[in-house]
Order: sequence, then structure tokens, then C-alpha cells
Amino acid sequence: KIVAVTTSRDMEKDALIPQAERIAVEAVNKGYTSLKQEHVAAWARRWDKADVEIEGDTEAQQGIRFNIFQLFSTYYGEDARLNIGPKGFTGEKYGGATYWDTEAYAVPMYLALADPDVTRNLLLYRYQQLEGAKHNAAQQGLRGALYPMVTFTGVECHNEWEITFEEIHRNGAIAYAIYNYTNYTGDLSYLREYGIDVLVEISRFWADRVHFSKSQQQYMIHGVTGPNEYENNVNNNWYTNTLAAWVLKYTLSVLPQISAKKSEHLAVTADELAHWQDIITHMYYPYDEEREVFVQHDTFMDKDLQPVSSLDPSNLPLNQKWSWDKILRSCFIKQADVLQGLYFFGDQFTLEEKARNFAFYEPMTVHESSLSPSIHAVLAAELKMEEKAVEMYKRTARLDLDNYNNDTEDGLHITSMTGSWLAIVQGFAGMRTYRETLSFSPFLPQGWNKYTFKINYRGRLLSILVQENEVIITLLDGEPLTLELYGEPTHITSGQSLMTNSVS
Ligand code: BGC
Repeated sequence: KIVAVTTSRDMEKDALIPQAERIAVEAVNKGYTSLKQEHVAAWARRWDKADVEIEGDTEAQQGIRFNIFQLFSTYYGEDARLNIGPKGFTGEKYGGATYWDTEAYAVPMYLALADPDVTRNLLLYRYQQLEGAKHNAAQQGLRGALYPMVTFTGVECHNEWEITFEEIHRNGAIAYAIYNYTNYTGDLSYLREYGIDVLVEISRFWADRVHFSKSQQQYMIHGVTGPNEYENNVNNNWYTNTLAAWVLKYTLSVLPQISAKKSEHLAVTADELAHWQDIITHMYYPYDEEREVFVQHDTFMDKDLQPVSSLDPSNLPLNQKWSWDKILRSCFIKQADVLQGLYFFGDQFTLEEKARNFAFYEPMTVHESSLSPSIHAVLAAELKMEEKAVEMYKRTARLDLDNYNNDTEDGLHITSMTGSWLAIVQGFAGMRTYRETLSFSPFLPQGWNKYTFKINYRGRLLSILVQENEVIITLLDGEPLTLELYGEPTHITSGQSLMTNSVS
């Protein structure tokens, strides 16, 4: 059967049927064989750039390929009015709406595997919804823009107060994606034309949402839900406070690069600038001096702290076995929270800080959000906890194939499927782009003979092959580049391969 689909999103109603007929006739004239060939060729182009080949572990290979296929079937960036539902087209849970998952989890992968336009379209989607985000902030009596937790139009459509009003960290992820795109691609045009409007309005929101504690002489953010949705209405979630101050800092740092016309339109006042700077300088970050870790929120340490391993496995998953009352009072963490911050701002914390926080929080984490294992895999890999990194990779890569969280019947975990790619590329291969420098620090997971993948970076195409005792990076296309391999700056020219023997 040859079917044509037209929608009133794209054309006037009375054009729908004639257009559908025209497309269907054209397709019939082309014939099945050439339609199939076009389809095969289009997928071959995607796979050529995006495939990750793993030798020696069939299950790991199946996991990553399954995920890339599902993700690209869901979204390939052709239309800035569209986004990525957490279940794609495979289930009704989450209603096909857009979540912060896109900015935090999908953007890094699309940046490396597709043309910059694909990510730019994801960012434009939010720019086009700025008015909706301003509406959400105004609904709460606040200035600026509050991007929604769940949306189609920019207006919030989640209906639980502890998410809608409180899970405001998502606003920071929208800003982070603008930074990520700009830092990865080196393209300042999005930031200057569109991104800055979003950053300024998000900054205005944070500046109004914080309050100054006279007793502590610091800025605080009360009444929030962090990424860990197994606690609500907490004060000073470390991740939220960190992200809010970072957004203000980033916005202040890019404002001088904006055209006079745009600055006039944004109309940021001197008082606003001074207030933002004051918040940055005096933000409160909960810290435990004795354990030397960042504290998830003000009263977290008063909880009955115990590892997940102390629970009888029949209690898991908690969200299917426990009452909400019991979950909310427990210390168990749904997904990366403090650790999400250490992942986003990896260049601002020392390895020792990462190690202490990972050792403290990971044992209490139940990973009952599909967004959790990948972040843990990346951090564990950096901390040289190979086994943990591989365990977390398997959980993210085969979440649906093996139904780890007993919820695949609700649909596939599309947005977290990027997590398996992040676990390999940022985790096992240690890829970073801090301070506009591409770097790798790969290891070969036990049992794997080799793995190889490609990435786009600033108009270049590179392939990375990791095998026993050897890493080979080849510049397949584009201008020469200086990158870092195990911390050593190395220059590479087109067609040239760079080899090193230091795979640990
Ligand atoms: C997670 C959220 C996520 C949503 C959609 C929830 O279970 O806690 O962080 O945005 O799923 O994936």
C-alpha cells in the first residue's frame, strides 16, 4: 500500500486532500522499488555517521543499535516546531509532550551525530515558545520565563503542583543547551539572534525566584523539587541553586557579545545586572563539612541514610511497591541529582570532589528514572570505576530490551536512549569539549575487543577506534585540528590517523 499523510499543521484544510492525492500519485509513479531504495539510502547515510560498532559483546552492540534506530525514527530535526517525546511514538505515557530530557540528554548526541541545524532546530523550538514560558512565570507571579516541565506550545501542561511550580531546575537545562550548542559548534549566531532572549528571560525568572536570607546573608531557593522526584518541596536543592547561579553567570558573560540593537530590545537594566551579580556572589550551596560532599537539599542529611543494598530486592522498584508517603520520606534517590550537576559542570569540580559525591549518592540511588544510569556511567568511567560504568551502560543500553524497570509496556524510553551513546562516547571514550577543546581519554571495557564511532566537530568528521592497547583517531574530513588525547595536546590533519598505546 502507498499512503500519503497531510496535516492541517502544514497547509489550509481545503488543500489537504488534493495534496495527499498528488503525493500519493507521485509515489505510485516512482514505484515500490525506487521508494525502497531511497529509504535504504537515507538510512544508510544516517548509519554511516552514527553507528557505534562494538566487537566482543553482542548484547552491548544490540543495545546501542536498537537505541540509535529508535531515536532517529522519532526525530531527525527537519522541523523546528517538533520535539522529542520521552516515549517517541511507542506509547501514550507522557502524551508525546516535550520535557527537559531533550536539552539535557538528546542535544549532546545530536550535536555530535547530525548537522548543527538539527540541534539548532531543537533550540529554536524553545525560542518560539518563549511567550508561553513567560506566561508560565506570570501565572506564578514571577518575572521572566519559566519553561514548562511538560508542553506542546510552551505553556505548562503538567497538572501536579510539586512538578509544575517546583521542579524548576528544568529552566536551567534550557539555558545549558544554548551553552552546549555554542561551545560545541563555535557558532555564535544562534546565541546572538535568539538564544540571548531566552537566557535573559530565564535569568529574570531566577532573579525573582531566589530570596535573600537576612539571617544567613545569602540567596536561597525554597520550595523546589530537584531532579530526584522522590522528594518534594525541599529547600536549597544543591543542583537547582548551582544551575540558577550558573545561568546568571553565563548570561552576564555573553551579554557583551550582543549587538546594540538586540541589547536595546532586551533592555536589561543596570540594577538587574547588579542584582544578578550579587546573587552569583552570595548564592548558598548546602555542604557537609564532615563528609565533604554537596548536600542534596537542606535536610537531606537528617534522613535515615542507608544504601539500596540494605533493602530486600522485593521492595524494588520502589515506585511500584511502596506508597508515596514512604518513598518521599526515604533517602532513596530516583535519578542523578547532585551528580547531574557534577556531570553538567564537569570542568568546575575536582576528581576528588566527584569521587566523594559519587561514593555518597550512588549507593542510595535506585535509578528508577531512565535518565539516571547514563550520567552515572559517564562519571564512573571518569573515576576509573570501570565495572560500575559498564553495569550502568548495560542498564541504559538495554533498559527496554531487558525491561529493567518493569515498565517497557508503557513505551520505549526514547530520550534516555541517547544515554547509552553518552555512556560510550563521554564515558568509555572520555570525550569532552571543555573550553572549546575536543579531548578523549578512552578505556576498553572488559570483554570488548574493540569499539568505534564517528563524531562531527566544528565542520570536521572524526572516527575514534579503541582496541586493546591502542586508540586510533582519524580525521576523515575537514580542517586540521588540535585535540587532547589523555591530556596531551595533539595535532591532526585530514586523512591522518593518530595512534596511541595508552589505553588503560
Ligand atoms: C523523570 C523526569 C523526566 C521524565 C520524562 C521522569 O520519570 O523523573 O526527570 O523528565 O520522567 O522522561
